[in-house]
Amino acid sequence: MSSTDLLARLDTRDVRGALVPGFALGDTTWFRVGGAAELYYQPADAEDLSGFLKRLPDDVPVTLVGLGSNLLAREGGVDGVTIRLSQKGFGGVVRSGETRLEVGAATADKMLARAALDASLAGFAFYFGIPGGVGGALRMNAGANGGETAARVVSVTAMSRAGEIVTLTNAEMGYAYRHCGAPADLIFLSATMEGTPGDPEAISAEMDAVTEHRETAQPIRSKTGGSTFKNPPGQSAWKLIDAAGCRGLTIGGAHVSQMHCNFLINEGEATAFDIEMVGETVRARVFETSGVRLDWEIKRLGRFAEGREIEPFLGF
Ligand SMILES: Cc1cc2nc3c(=O)[nH]c(=O)nc-3n(C[C@H](O)[C@H](O)[C@H](O)COP(=O)(O)OP(=O)(O)OC[C@H]3O[C@@H](n4cnc5c(N)ncnc54)[C@H](O)[C@@H]3O)c2cc1C
Repeated sequence: MSSTDLLARLDTRDVRGALVPGFALGDTTWFRVGGAAELYYQPADAEDLSGFLKRLPDDVPVTLVGLGSNLLAREGGVDGVTIRLSQKGFGGVVRSGETRLEVGAATADKMLARAALDASLAGFAFYFGIPGGVGGALRMNAGANGGETAARVVSVTAMSRAGEIVTLTNAEMGYAYRHCGAPADLIFLSATMEGTPGDPEAISAEMDAVTEHRETAQPIRSKTGGSTFKNPPGQSAWKLIDAAGCRGLTIGGAHVSQMHCNFLINEGEATAFDIEMVGETVRARVFETSGVRLDWEIKRLGRFAEGREIEPFLGF
């Protein structure tokens, strides 16, 4: 079905948000590659989103994107509706009580860290170095510098595929390392997060240290998706990749970063195919040299372009 066919099929009379057929996903992902979303939707607010989902036929797939810092969108495009929460309708941080913050899912992690500093709350400085949004952090259990999202979340408000609001406790989010066990079709709208009373100077110094670490250890100004693979239990993905001789490995316009070899880089002209091919080659070489199967941390979306399919090497 073409993008305009899907739009024509939907009842969108009451939609107040933006609906864009054939939206180029490369414009919103850090890798700057990828095909088109069949239909892209930025809801105006939770009521708009609920009405849209209630009228959306069951057979239309729904995909969520946040700030696109952990995504690889394949060239064949993403079928159905791709939703991105607008900053205006879903962003912002409000203090609630002594130690809690109510945080909208479209808030940038960096803004969350700044808001926690303003509220003299410790425990959020690690967000200062993560280039995603809170929705992505809730789904990925984003973490760094000894902190992680699971440790901050009290509860999460989400919307089901049927357009109903649900609330999940921290336990119901099913958190593990870079994993969230909450149903995959839930759209996270906001979260109640908790910190501990802290000294603003110490929090500020911690945020500076986070920035310093990023500048020296990660290719943060490149077109990348952050850490490509999860660290296997008790091991570092980058060490396994280095030992497999993959630092600098290049295919087409994509390569394994020289600076941090768990990062893949689009040199400028890479395709999603090049990037995924480098990733699968790394996985195969690491398995050959160490027997360890690396799991992708980056989320890959959509279909391959015809004739450009990549089967995971070695069948895993
Ligand atoms: C330079 C660089 C450094 C990075 N460093 C770190 C790091 O130190 N630690 C770390 O954990 N990550 C890191 N990342 C990865 C990334 O920033 C995090 O995973 C981040 O939490 C993703 O947020 P996002 O808004 O970009 O989500 P996206 O990449 O857009 O999406 C990621 C996943 O979240 C889902 N999602 C997004 N919003 C919602 C929502 N509202 N409801 C439900 N699901 C949603 C998407 O469907 C997708 O499955 C880094 C990335 C880059 C590019």
